[in-house]
Amino acid sequence: MAFNILIVDDSTTTRGMVKKVLKLTGLELGEILEASNGLKGLEVLRQNWVDLVLADLNMPEMTGQAMIEEMLKDPMLSQVPVIVVSSEGDQKVISILFEKGVKDFIRKPFDANTLRNLVEKALAPAPA
Ligand SMILES: [Mg+2]
Repeated sequence: MAFNILIVDDSTTTRGMVKKVLKLTGLELGEILEASNGLKGLEVLRQNWVDLVLADLNMPEMTGQAMIEEMLKDPMLSQVPVIVVSSEGDQKVISILFEKGVKDFIRKPFDANTLRNLVEKALAPAPA
């Protein structure tokens, strides 16, 4: 099964770097979708089957936190795993998001191997 992954970040450079890491994972990738803020991320999520979201927190128009909260209110999106990829130093936001079910958090600038491991872990089949 090929995985569709959505990268939500207002930085084109970061999206490019994340994409590069994804291509090196060896995972079978379907579409790599991109959005530059939370609002656009939700639009993409509502129009495509997405297996994993990699989300920045600090973005214009709609933050990653607000996007994740919207996802959790939507039964179609609440089960989609999210990994936060952010330079956000606010530990409080991170703990709130973990409590809400965010899978993992990786701080920017991220290490390619760490990101690859988190992505592989998030997409691994749940134990029976
Ligand atoms: Mg940002």
